[in-house]
Amino acid sequence: MAASDIHIPGDAGATLVVDLDAIVENFRLIQTTCPRAEVGASVKADAYGLGLAPVTRALFQSGCHAFFVATPGEGAELRSILPEAQIIVLNGPMRGQTEIFVASRLCPVLNSLEQITAWQDGIGAHAFDIPAWLHVDTGMNRLGLGETELAALLADPERLRGVTLSTIMSHLACGDTPDHPMNAAQLARFIAIRHRVEVQTGPLRASLANSPGVFLGPEFHFDLVRPGAALYGLAPSLQRPNPMHQVIEMQAIILQVRDVDTPMTVGYGAAHHVAKPARIATIAAGYADGYPRAAAGNTGDTMHVHIAGHDVPLCGRVSMDLLTVDVSAVPEALTCPGQAVELIGSHISADDLATASGTIGYEVLARLGHRSHRIYKGGQV
Ligand SMILES: *Cc1c(COP(=O)(O)O)cnc(C)c1O
Repeated sequence: MAASDIHIPGDAGATLVVDLDAIVENFRLIQTTCPRAEVGASVKADAYGLGLAPVTRALFQSGCHAFFVATPGEGAELRSILPEAQIIVLNGPMRGQTEIFVASRLCPVLNSLEQITAWQDGIGAHAFDIPAWLHVDTGMNRLGLGETELAALLADPERLRGVTLSTIMSHLACGDTPDHPMNAAQLARFIAIRHRVEVQTGPLRASLANSPGVFLGPEFHFDLVRPGAALYGLAPSLQRPNPMHQVIEMQAIILQVRDVDTPMTVGYGAAHHVAKPARIATIAAGYADGYPRAAAGNTGDTMHVHIAGHDVPLCGRVSMDLLTVDVSAVPEALTCPGQAVELIGSHISADDLATASGTIGYEVLARLGHRSHRIYKGGQV
């Protein structure tokens, strides 16, 4: 997008361009990678900050019919967007929440004996219409039935009476490190547990893979995979080349350019020293737009932004609404106020920005959408 194309409303700092066609291409790439599994989409946290409605509509129209959210509230919101989709709530039902599951036809993931009992008590005659997922822990130790709970469940068939289970799932702890021995160990445990459970329940569908799991090989795919990050262009593993299409672009404009001709400091904490004559540009985006404050480190010169063919280093700390860059090496004509600057895009990925900031692409994405002005490209909506 050229500088003249960028329109930022007065109440936004940055513009976040979300390419819906790229999300759909990533969905297809995952389908090709998992030819025997259904591909669902993880769309929790407002589709990782990219916008629940546009993202899920584009995916649904492309043949994605199963969607994973974290909370029942997210599920109810998605139900109003997609009346036909299958919606699975990863955090599961707490006692007293069954009604919202029934009203919005949300499939719960049952993560503990307590959730199984809460569901059993609340679901009544609806059990058959709303099949549940059973989450067994295979090493993540976060959610899911551990061995003791599993043994208790299997020892007493009454515990599942009136509950219709469709699918058994587990979650990988180290999928983004393909050679980690934990992957094979979790896979073996999952297969063993599935067989033990199916003795009691009859055949179930199975699901293990998140985005990293999709790229670990066909034995990890089972019946349904549930990627999020890879759909949005993040690398399934930082140890391998990223096979996904870039989805987002974040831009902001230069507000002011200042010539510095005597040694001085820039920004809060006077943390950045300008020794030689320099030109410093101030850009209308900061950490309130989701640009990580940690990108500038303590001295303010870790990361760069991109201006018309030039990588331009940050200088000084990232403020709430502003960041400052050293444009001394860029022709003056390209740094006038109003000039668009790439913060994330084809030259700087969300993963790059995250690595420079000591975090992961997931966290960068999830924080981008709050104040920035979102623009959608592609999709049929
Ligand atoms: C978030 C989540 C996913 C999706 O993970 P990605 O790494 O974004 O693909 C899948 N399964 C569970 C249980 C999750 O919590």
